Amino acid sequence: MSERKIRVRFAPSPTGPLHMGGIRTALFNYLYAKKHQGDFILRIEDTDQARYVEGAEKYIIESLKWCGLEMDEGPFLKNSLHGPYRQSERKHLYREYADQLILSGNAYYAFDTSEDLESMRLLAKKANMPNWQYNSITRNTMKNSLSLSKDDVEKRMKNKEPYTIRVKMPRDQDIRFYDEIRGWVIVNTNNMDDKVIFKADSMPTYHLANIIDDYLMKITHVIRGEEWLPSAPLHVMLYKFLGWEKLMPKFAHLPLILKPDGNGKLSKRDGDRLGFPVFPIEWKDPGSGEVSSGYREKGYFPEAFVNMLAFLGWNPGNAREVYSIDDLIKDFTLERVGKSGAKFDPEKSKWFNQQHLRLKSNIELAQQLKANLELDVSDSYLVKVIELMKERATFSSDLISDRYFFESTDDYNQKTFKKKWKSNTLGLVKEFFMLLKEDDEFTAFSIENIFQKFISKKEIGMGTILPNLRLILTGKGVGPSLFEIMELLGKEEVMRRHEKKSIFFEELFLENSN
Ligand code: GLU
Repeated sequence: MSERKIRVRFAPSPTGPLHMGGIRTALFNYLYAKKHQGDFILRIEDTDQARYVEGAEKYIIESLKWCGLEMDEGPFLKNSLHGPYRQSERKHLYREYADQLILSGNAYYAFDTSEDLESMRLLAKKANMPNWQYNSITRNTMKNSLSLSKDDVEKRMKNKEPYTIRVKMPRDQDIRFYDEIRGWVIVNTNNMDDKVIFKADSMPTYHLANIIDDYLMKITHVIRGEEWLPSAPLHVMLYKFLGWEKLMPKFAHLPLILKPDGNGKLSKRDGDRLGFPVFPIEWKDPGSGEVSSGYREKGYFPEAFVNMLAFLGWNPGNAREVYSIDDLIKDFTLERVGKSGAKFDPEKSKWFNQQHLRLKSNIELAQQLKANLELDVSDSYLVKVIELMKERATFSSDLISDRYFFESTDDYNQKTFKKKWKSNTLGLVKEFFMLLKEDDEFTAFSIENIFQKFISKKEIGMGTILPNLRLILTGKGVGPSLFEIMELLGKEEVMRRHEKKSIFFEELFLENSN
């Protein structure tokens, strides 16, 4: 077993967009595979045609790509050994195994219609047994190949009466399996029902198709969300019945992702309702046309999104939080995945983005910004703006949100002025600009020097005129070093802004002194 090449699969059903929980499952599979030089496989589980959603598969593939979770095998890839990778294209494979289960006495035909099942449930409810199940106790009262005579069964088959195939759960047996995250799990078969494994429409159900494909695709580890833990005992049983026990993959069920207040599982509906995206990329519902926001469109870096997801349930056991995907691959282990639900914190996602933004070089950020936006400035100018803005930015759009770097601000906000303007300083301000006019160097250093000398000569504090200079040049009350801003804008532009705005301050100054 230990010599088998590690092979894991991400097996979503294309019933809609993947939310971040789905991507986290894909990520943990990917990290595990890459850590062990194994294969990461994408399998589309589309046996339930009724729940198929147009565009969902494309969305899944695009999301994985955006996150950088490159697959080794999957739909659309050439040279894939174990394909096809869509269950709808593997339909012909499954029946043989259902027949094998019937032959070995571990499954049976069931002819009960949905009405039969419904009336049985109603009867049970009336008799105060609301949790009626099709199981080892009740199966004899139902219409199936175990309760009906051989002739009757043959007749029904001949008449092409629709039937399902159900697994025959033995009575009172403990099923034990080891979960890599949860440890030993023991479930008694008395608590399990005879699940349908093959449907009347000749399609296998999830349970059967899932384990057959895991077997045929030589999957070594099943890493999936906690919501599948209740299905695992049935899967273990099916491996046993099919004689594949030795090749059964190891199981690891990941903890739930909880809402920010810790109150229940984070759901697809929580996203825009609580003001943050739950989807990796934007999703437009093909039916309603409703658009749900995505991390990509909100300006998150995929590296930051992936880093944030990795910490939803996993931690490296030390204080480090900022990780590249390569470092995650190095440090990831299933042992360090927790059992209890991981609370999602939207503020922390922003923090991760900020950290990854700081890790990027200014030139890289400049090039990304220029590729996505029409910015009519040189790379070197943009790099300098980025240098000034980086410490305050969370998203790359924050780096260029201060438009005064790129255009003369004519829309000065009167309110900001009134609030921040230090009155009775206009004379000083003008005098300072006169001095600046003489500065041929015009570097942050030379400007600061002039400024320091000026305030000490006038015996005033920095705060007496600095806020006003900032208002004049940028229209803002706060921002990065004004001396740096002045150097960047250049002497000509600084003087132009001063002159252009002088009428504005004079009017305001008079108004304030009235
Ligand atoms: N198709 C299942 C899903 O939608 C896969 C569960 C599993 O990984 O076994 O999540």
